[in-house]
Amino acid sequence: HGEYSEVIVNTPDGPVSVGKHHPVAVVAGPCSVENEEMIVETAKRVKAAGAKFLRGGAYKPRTSPYAFQGHGESALELLAAAREASGLGIITEVMDAADLDKIGAVADVIQVGARNMQNFALLKKVGAQDKPVLLKRGMSATIDEWLMAAEYVLAAGNPQVILCERGIRTFDGKYTRNTLDLSVLPVLRSLTHLPIMIDPSHGTGKSDYVPSMAAAAIAADTDSLMIEVHPNPAKALSDGAQSLTPDKFDRVMRDLSIIGKTV
Ligand code: PEP
Ligand code: MN
Repeated sequence: HGEYSEVIVNTPDGPVSVGKHHPVAVVAGPCSVENEEMIVETAKRVKAAGAKFLRGGAYKPRTSPYAFQGHGESALELLAAAREASGLGIITEVMDAADLDKIGAVADVIQVGARNMQNFALLKKVGAQDKPVLLKRGMSATIDEWLMAAEYVLAAGNPQVILCERGIRTFDGKYTRNTLDLSVLPVLRSLTHLPIMIDPSHGTGKSDYVPSMAAAAIAADTDSLMIEVHPNPAKALSDGAQSLTPDKFDRVMRDLSIIGKTV
């Protein structure tokens, strides 16, 4: 494949490069930031296992307005504490441009979620600030629509975009939550210089299916992975079914290191 670029993220532990010739950067953590103990503990555990970034939602895009919506601003403070305690870079989602400044004060990478992939006003705003952007693929977005969404960020002046495949809607949602489209790896390589992340957690919706899909993504030359990890998945406030325990994550990281460089 042709040349492609790297995104360099400044984390407390130093710069982490995501992209060509670099080890696979792994982002791990809970779907939602629930309390200080769980986020700090998870941060330490995933770091020890080799993750470079901690993920955790403060503002959650839930299908139901009655479902847990995230702890918002107070969760950002907990992410700051976990960042400090672990040295990991922080990745968290913005849903409302009005929250961008306070999210940017804590996050090292700003996530735009699948449901906002074509929120063009939001894309222009994240393009006008200087933190790297993780742009998730909309669940029904074509590759061209996804690349044009990335173009909004680039055109607004921010060249630091990572594309994240998180599964798409297909006709059979019975056994997996989404269909993880790993064919984006060779396709995107032929179309764009931007680095790629694969999220087998949202891609499959089931923790048992995460290890093999993570391995497949590495075999297909992904630049990075996003894996949901929760200290007690059965009690998680969101996405417990697809979350690995820290022990399981540690095991997966060991297995992945046999296939490719993850740390
Ligand atoms: C998430 O990362 O927790 C999330 C909500 O992801 P997506 O936008 O891919 O559904
Ligand atoms: Mn989630």
